[in-house]
Amino acid sequence: MTVCTVCNEKEAKIHMTIDDKQIAICETCNNLEMSQLLGHNFEKEIEEITLPDISGKYHHFTIEQLVLPVGVRLEAIESKNDGYRIVVDGAFDTDLPALYQKLVEKTKQTLSKLYVEKGIFPNGQSYVTLRDYELVGQVQSSEDLNEPMLVIDGEPIHGNK
Ligand SMILES: [Zn+2]
Repeated sequence: MTVCTVCNEKEAKIHMTIDDKQIAICETCNNLEMSQLLGHNFEKEIEEITLPDISGKYHHFTIEQLVLPVGVRLEAIESKNDGYRIVVDGAFDTDLPALYQKLVEKTKQTLSKLYVEKGIFPNGQSYVTLRDYELVGQVQSSEDLNEPMLVIDGEPIHGNK
């Protein structure tokens, strides 16, 4: 992992180039600097949430709050690898608790639908099928592969599988 150049402690998830200088900074330091720069203070409301999907399976999310020059971004990232990622964006004058509420609602909504049904044929072969001739997935970048990855129902779909 890349360590934050400001606090030398946390993982630097934000990489910027300012005046040809590479800057790697963590979420906490970025939000602190941005808050000072903009004269706004954005207190983090929620660290993590756990919600059930329609099948009753629980999904655990870490919440990242990112203060950007254009507003605030909240992202719910499922704790397991290549899981769900849900993002909401808000303007600067956004009511932060309301934005968190929006993120929770959007996450619930995402978990309330499963598009893929998995099962096993009587001969023991497993199958994957679409439930309603409808498919909504997310395209994410994978850390292992150098190619975009499709994530459906919080599970990655690999092209070679
Ligand atoms: Zn830091």
